[in-house]
Amino acid sequence: MKESINPYTGEKIFEFQELTSSELDEKVQEANDSFFAWKKTTFQERSKLLKAAAKELREHTDEYAKVISQEMGKPIAQSRAEVDKCAWVCEYYAENGESQLASKTIETDADTSYVSYEPLGVILAVMPWNYPFWQVFRFAAPNIMAGNVGVLKHASNVMKSAQLIEQVFLRAGFPKGCFQNLIIGSDKIEELLKNPVIKAATLTGSKPAGSSVASIAGQEIKKTVLELGGNNALIVFEDADLDATVEICVKARYQNTGQSCIAGKRLLVHESIADAFIKKFLNQVKSLNSGDPMKEDTFIGPMARVDLAKELEKQLQDSVKMGAKILIGGKRDQAYFEPTVVTDISYDMPVFKEETFGPVIGIVTFKNDAEAVEISNNSEFGLGVSLFTSNKERVNKLAPLFNEGAVFVNELVKSDPRLPFGGVKISGYGRELSEDGIKEFVNEKTVYIK
Ligand code: NDP
Repeated sequence: MKESINPYTGEKIFEFQELTSSELDEKVQEANDSFFAWKKTTFQERSKLLKAAAKELREHTDEYAKVISQEMGKPIAQSRAEVDKCAWVCEYYAENGESQLASKTIETDADTSYVSYEPLGVILAVMPWNYPFWQVFRFAAPNIMAGNVGVLKHASNVMKSAQLIEQVFLRAGFPKGCFQNLIIGSDKIEELLKNPVIKAATLTGSKPAGSSVASIAGQEIKKTVLELGGNNALIVFEDADLDATVEICVKARYQNTGQSCIAGKRLLVHESIADAFIKKFLNQVKSLNSGDPMKEDTFIGPMARVDLAKELEKQLQDSVKMGAKILIGGKRDQAYFEPTVVTDISYDMPVFKEETFGPVIGIVTFKNDAEAVEISNNSEFGLGVSLFTSNKERVNKLAPLFNEGAVFVNELVKSDPRLPFGGVKISGYGRELSEDGIKEFVNEKTVYIK
């Protein structure tokens, strides 16, 4: 049995019967049957249905946003924005998928030679709870447009969201079997990956989950894409626009109650502006509205599960034992965690070294550009970094030095359907979104005609 517990009230709100092995087999078979029909559809037909999915999301935003907020505590305004972004990614691939996958002629000694991009089949998506709709649509929209079909194993605490996503596709008119939700635990993943019908897998989540899925898929010679989180630095140089930068940094760390892979988790500030910056930063953090995620003006809700809040508390307490100093926040009440700012950080402390998946940020200072790069790169993660500076020359010089999947300047690291998204090091591999994302799970077929 799977259940969803509202992290704000602590109440059980939904219950789900898990699929039996034979029911799971049937669904996977249904996905496979659908694939053979779906891959024959034209891009125009797929595009029309994806646009209908976007319309469904836009017309029923409140219905979907409410469930996101109930299941994982996201403040309602942010849940609505998430649903809206899902509509955007559907429209983006509806409009661009065909040209992105158009065959490419390449001049050789053949009469004709070209590359075509053909779908692989049934793709398994193992997804997390932090953006319960967005993470799934980011996978589903490009893959369905490419002619693949999807099966979803969603995080156990957001199974209602998973059901509703399936409903979006059905209401939009997609054939049954094109996108299916599987109510299963992670104990069923090995069996699924070994099923010859499943051709590839994508996972967003923790390193242990990614490592397990990639190992099993590797044994089966099935491709994986992994998006495993990050420990992004926000680097504030001495010439940054302080007010604008404070605002962006607060949003980068605390939106979604800090539970984002791309959140800014380490704040690096040039020593010459540290006092002024920290003062402004603390003022802004103090002004954040915490409370009921269903209220319009709430910015910080509860974390998604009590165990996740406890884990964050342990990371903070262990860091304090090692000498870190809490400037504000630091307290937990069930799943609620106060927005917290910490200083006196050493690089071996959990709040610096590990991913903190909640509203806690550690601040360190640096003396010069080289030191900023060194501190930022001192991480086993490599998802992204944000630089705040008015010096474009510095940006061009420094950008290549970061071991990251993305460098954003005067902006928080964010996903955008038009740009590739993914990491290096233990943040994972492969790319989602953009043309790169739609080409992850296709057969790039070389055709040579003499
Ligand atoms: P998990 O990685 O455990 O969960 C993510 C997804 O993977 C869920 O669907 C989960 O299923 C599934 N999963 C878990 N273990 C396995 C496994 N061995 N094989 C296959 N699938 C598996 O994340 P948690 O929810 O436990 O969060 C823990 C930490 O992970 C966070 O604190 C954060 O650091 C990181 N994380 C990163 C995210 C990101 O966006 N990159 C998103 C969420 C978490 P089930 O729920 O049934 O266990």
